[in-house]
Amino acid sequence: MKAISILGSTGSIGTQTLEIAEEFPNQFNVVALAAGSNLDLLVEQIDKHKPEVVSISDEELIPQLKSRLNQRLKGKPAKEFPKLVGGPDGVNTVASWDHSDLVVTGIVGCAGLLPTLAAIKAGKDLALANKETLIAAGPVVLPELKKSGSRLLPADSEHSAIFQCLQGTPWSENARLSTGVPTPGFRNIHLTASGGAFRDWSVEELKRATVKDATSHPNWSMGRKITVDSATLMNKGLEVIEAHYLFGLDYDQIEIVIHPQSIIHSMVELEDSSILAQLGWPDMKLPILYCMSWPKRFKTPWKRLNLAEVGELTFKSPDTNKYPCMELAYSAGKAGGTMPAVLNAANEEVVSQFLKENIHFLDIPKIIETICEKHKNENKKDPNLDDILLVDSWARKEVCAEIKKY
Ligand code: NDP
Repeated sequence: MKAISILGSTGSIGTQTLEIAEEFPNQFNVVALAAGSNLDLLVEQIDKHKPEVVSISDEELIPQLKSRLNQRLKGKPAKEFPKLVGGPDGVNTVASWDHSDLVVTGIVGCAGLLPTLAAIKAGKDLALANKETLIAAGPVVLPELKKSGSRLLPADSEHSAIFQCLQGTPWSENARLSTGVPTPGFRNIHLTASGGAFRDWSVEELKRATVKDATSHPNWSMGRKITVDSATLMNKGLEVIEAHYLFGLDYDQIEIVIHPQSIIHSMVELEDSSILAQLGWPDMKLPILYCMSWPKRFKTPWKRLNLAEVGELTFKSPDTNKYPCMELAYSAGKAGGTMPAVLNAANEEVVSQFLKENIHFLDIPKIIETICEKHKNENKKDPNLDDILLVDSWARKEVCAEIKKY
């Protein structure tokens, strides 16, 4: 039995992790849950999974949660009532809960940074979905992993694909992988991108893109923020930085290819020119399960991939005019230091403003570029946690000031 903690249990990653736990009751035991504010769903999850500890980010909701649980669990044994915690300390308690073996990080955005660090410091293995944490704070997270011996298992489908392709490939002297598996002698990786909601739209047509359009992904069902990131291709840009930190690759070794069917989840090109790919339906449950079962494989009843049903797999190079966010991410990644944290925070704030309909879709890259430009001369190499948190809040404030001009 592996004991699992889930950060962001009420979100897309969190609910899919709980579905997996339900499907494999003899393999996984959910011991700790952390949610933002969705009390209705959280109460249901507590009733079904009986965690030992639960946190809610808004502390003021604890009395309401307590009273809902009293009604829901009336007459049940006292041990089914979890310890309730709240606020930033509460989520850290869940992240570092003594009885857990693996922490699934499904909180959206940089809000996941401190709990992720708490889990690492407690020596937990991590199933990393919350990519923003690594992007903003790679230079802080990686040394902590080394110190504690925690393993970082990639739950993002592209990075899981690469991780899966690496199993069984030859070992290299240049191993830098934080997941505990040495990096093989590879040349390149190819991150596949569906192209997002606007893959079939022209640059001209993007002028009439709405929030509803940007939040309708053709292949994947995900939270709203990552769905907008997919539409701008910032998600792919963030994944480039994530791959740099996870696999120890230079930026010119990470390529993006548009693959509208989302069947190949990414590829590894080896030194002898062989390319290895991982294929599957576009369903996050598979990469999440692989993190949970690694290094084993569990037999699932899930629909098997049928290539004849898929019909064709197509590929093309991404259009940098249509997707400027991709290039912004490469530049921030290459600049290193605090720049990726600025890019990430600016993107989080801008996407949130777009979702509130305060700016247009095409304003997203313009505002992010302005904020990154402003930070250029202040970029701090080898940042510590305080530096990262400082620029994160600076970039958010700058976005709010910039938006007034739009
Ligand atoms: P969702 O928006 O669906 O869920 C976010 C979760 O985080 C919710 O449970 C929410 O709680 C919780 N949350 C938000 N803020 C806080 C906070 N301050 N403290 C504690 N919990 C908080 O997002 P996704 O599941 O789509 O994405 C989660 C992460 O996984 C993101 O980093 C994303 O990039 C990454 N990812 C997601 C994929 C997907 O398929 N969804 C694929 C690959 C990566 P509540 O709802 O209760 O307020």
